[in-house]
Amino acid sequence: MEAAGERYRQAAQQGTLHELDSRDFTVPGLEPDDLVRWAYENGMVASKSGRIVYEQILGAAPDERCPLCGHGIVRTLDHFLPKRMFPALCVDPLNLVPACADCNHIKGERVPTEAETTLLHPYLDHIDEDTWLDAQVVHNSPSWVNFFVSPPQDWADALAERTRYHFTLFGLAKVFAVQANRTVNNIRYQLTAMLATGGMDMVRDYLVDEARTRLADRPNGWEGVTYRALADDDVFCSGAFAP
Ligand SMILES: [Zn+2]
Repeated sequence: MEAAGERYRQAAQQGTLHELDSRDFTVPGLEPDDLVRWAYENGMVASKSGRIVYEQILGAAPDERCPLCGHGIVRTLDHFLPKRMFPALCVDPLNLVPACADCNHIKGERVPTEAETTLLHPYLDHIDEDTWLDAQVVHNSPSWVNFFVSPPQDWADALAERTRYHFTLFGLAKVFAVQANRTVNNIRYQLTAMLATGGMDMVRDYLVDEARTRLADRPNGWEGVTYRALADDDVFCSGAFAP
């Protein structure tokens, strides 16, 4: 299992996780299910000392926010490479990622088959050092916020593709749009009062301020990106938020 962990680390560093052969991640003489039951289910999840490590990894996500979607509440540990296919990595901390129930379910037993379809690994891919999430208000009835991946120019093509794949697989455009819609509903009364008092400039100043505060905390969080998109939209600031 240590050798398997080393192989996994090397591939992760080189960006070649999609080239790993799952046959190299079994333990001779042990059925995969037996190994997972012994090491992970009994040895970690259900054991007193192992559970401490499990809880530590679970609690490592800031704000208990799922690092895969940036929105859901952490409920479980997801095996980045599935434990049934890669049983020798079933208790490797680098392969255990905190996740919300939705992301854990959507990801399922998915295995990367090419560089572009390798999901983003929260410990290894530090994409939040750059701004990659953007959004635009779409004026339909009702208006809604369209989120999309907008990677910086200097990103490698493979990383941009992986980010788009990750974004699409977890349905993040929909997840974020629903939240953005709720945000608009929550501030509609306030915006209406501001528009009546100080016109669209007052509305925009407020939205810019809110965006700044949130983006300082999370540069690619749906909250800040929502406020930025609303502030950037003249039609919205001049009253399109009215029901
Ligand atoms: Zn999630």
